[in-house]
Amino acid sequence: MNSPYTNALEQLDRVASIMELNKQTHKRLQLPEKFHVVSIPVVMDDGEERIFIGYRSQYNSILGLYKGGIRFASTVDKDEVKALSFWMTIKTAAVGLPLGGGKGGVIVDPRGMSEGELERLSRGWVKALFDVIGPRQDVPAPDVATNPRIMGWMTDEYSRIAGEASPAAFTGKDVKDGGIVARSTSTARGGFYLLEKIRKDSGKEPGEMRVAIQGFGNAGSFFAKIAYDAGYKIIGVSDSRTSVMSQGGAGFDPYEVQKIKEEQGALQNVDVHDADGAALRVGQPLDVLGMKCDVLVPAAVENQITQDNVENVVAPLVIELANGPTTPEADRILFERGTLVVPDVLANAGGVIVSYYEWYQNINDEQWTEDEANEKLRLQISHAHSSIESIAQEYKSSLRDAAYIFALRALDDALRKG
Ligand code: NAD
Repeated sequence: MNSPYTNALEQLDRVASIMELNKQTHKRLQLPEKFHVVSIPVVMDDGEERIFIGYRSQYNSILGLYKGGIRFASTVDKDEVKALSFWMTIKTAAVGLPLGGGKGGVIVDPRGMSEGELERLSRGWVKALFDVIGPRQDVPAPDVATNPRIMGWMTDEYSRIAGEASPAAFTGKDVKDGGIVARSTSTARGGFYLLEKIRKDSGKEPGEMRVAIQGFGNAGSFFAKIAYDAGYKIIGVSDSRTSVMSQGGAGFDPYEVQKIKEEQGALQNVDVHDADGAALRVGQPLDVLGMKCDVLVPAAVENQITQDNVENVVAPLVIELANGPTTPEADRILFERGTLVVPDVLANAGGVIVSYYEWYQNINDEQWTEDEANEKLRLQISHAHSSIESIAQEYKSSLRDAAYIFALRALDDALRKG
């Protein structure tokens, strides 16, 4: 299977040829502007020093400062970080934000690390990269296995070195640290607003829509709860080890699943019944992708829907909350089959949109309410969807290609103006 970066560049090349993108712009977007590799020494609880490898990819800044999350995972590598920063560049441009694209990571398995070790690692990442990040040049945020608490430590470390409070240096912080109330749910909420828009156009009621979700972390679990609250039927969720599925399709309460998962420590021990009273079926992590449902929401990691399993994907609508969950080959098959895929660069853009609101609030010393932020998000992401849909109609293309065309036009305009 290709690396995510190979996939990302393949997407770029294909769309560049469809829209006849200016060659210079195309070349500029084939490489990150800067890529930083740092070693981060961390004293572990046993007194030994371990060195972790950290990255920050600053892909493109023509539309504004670099923006993108930091991932803590043992699978992090240069290509993944580059791909994610490329997708951020496309995403911010596709939804009309005055931001560029960046992404960071650390090669680490955070499970099993103590709170103190995690804090020293987070502060170490900031120390190592202090000179190249900051509120006016590169503003990181959470991604897989990083969270508001980690953003709080990072902001504190940045402020300590800078010698002044710098809440705008990171987004995705706790509200007490200058975060915005709506941020924790914003990725899921943005994808949900798009689902609502598509559902209303189809004339269906929420109760007629069965939703299966891969990944039950920040993006996936909030999506499940928001959709459930709006009356959708949640019929399957999964994590890295297990899928739990409603056998008859009656749906279940994701709050209950989350509560039990937290108590039991794993989804596989969740003993929940669906609305028909039947016990949920427990299966392999990938089983959820093949469920008979109306909406499939990949919300875990890259390269999940592939040439090998795309035949199992029967949902007519896929909302990509994860970044890069569908390989280019599988994407082509889904498009030819008529499956509507709302691509990652649009579907999960709620996270960066509300991150931008948080940064804006911090810079301007404002405090928006949750309702204000959510309503702005709904309007901004719906508007982006409508613009991208028009391009898809014009080019008879997928929404992914259309989102790229929209973004590449904006990047090309800005690059030509210098
Ligand atoms: P998270 O760490 O909170 O949750 C990840 C979930 O995916 C967990 O349930 C985990 O068990 C599951 N998972 C991990 N590896 C898996 C695998 N190989 N197979 C199946 N499941 C697996 O992360 P998150 O913040 O929810 O991010 C999920 C996806 O959404 C990522 O692709 C991320 O880049 C994307 N995303 C997140 C945000 C955000 O605001 N959190 C914003 C934009 C995009």
